[in-house]
Amino acid sequence: MDIRGLIDCHTHCRFSPDGTDEPAELAEKAIELGLTAWALTDHCECNTWFEPEHYGIDSETADSEEILMYNCCKFHNDSKEPVDTLKERLNGMIEFVRGVELGQPLQALDIAEQIIAYDDLDFVIGSLHNNAGVPDFYFLQYDKMPAEKLSVLLDDYFAQVLEMCEWGKFDVLGHLTYPLRYITGKFNISVDMGRYRDICAQIFKTLIGSGKGIEINTSSLFTDYKTTMPDKQMLALYKDLGGEVLSLGSDAHCAEKIGQGIDAGAELAKECGFRYCTYFKRHKPEFVKL
Ligand SMILES: [Zn+2]
Ligand SMILES: [Zn+2]
Repeated sequence: MDIRGLIDCHTHCRFSPDGTDEPAELAEKAIELGLTAWALTDHCECNTWFEPEHYGIDSETADSEEILMYNCCKFHNDSKEPVDTLKERLNGMIEFVRGVELGQPLQALDIAEQIIAYDDLDFVIGSLHNNAGVPDFYFLQYDKMPAEKLSVLLDDYFAQVLEMCEWGKFDVLGHLTYPLRYITGKFNISVDMGRYRDICAQIFKTLIGSGKGIEINTSSLFTDYKTTMPDKQMLALYKDLGGEVLSLGSDAHCAEKIGQGIDAGAELAKECGFRYCTYFKRHKPEFVKL
């Protein structure tokens, strides 16, 4: 399926610690694909930061306020000028959405509040990559974990996602079911999602009630998980509960992967009864026909 006219609202450039390319290279690819809207959503992991030296500050002399400010503003300060210039250049060529992927906002609330207060942001993805006090799901060894512990880990994950949605200071919830990419994808352990249907319904009702949305994250289609985050069943539940705000994101970390899986994501959305996908300008939803 041609993705001309569609959107990719979850991408990372070199201003993410795990991104590689210049924002202009991503823009070039997004335009080449004929996307209506493209969002640049570099990571701001609220609960994770580097040592002061990473920001060119001397830890001996810097005060804690200064370190906090640098931690908080790192992604924004570094990217501000090049992204401002790019935004101007793209005017009329594509809807450019300046966003951020806000990781674990409730685990460092003061930092999260400072980031979302930036008045040049169009779009915030709220993501949970790790449960409070536990490493990123990416790093955990699920094969050595007793089944009961795994259930508790996932219970905690969904409970903390719900808490984040109740806080709600973002536009769409990022990659719901993120742990399955590793638990089921990498470690081949199947999870009975029936156990989480009720809490996912609560998550969706909370988002719908506050006018927020979810994304179909297509990056995991290209891993051993081979499924979108969330999957078709979850999307159908969101739709049944009245969900309308639906973003599409490749979660590309380089220009080459922009748009990857967006065709499959759009197809899935249509199968579940969605007629539109959504991008955001100044935190206001804009609807694009699927
Ligand atoms: Zn993420
Ligand atoms: Zn991402």
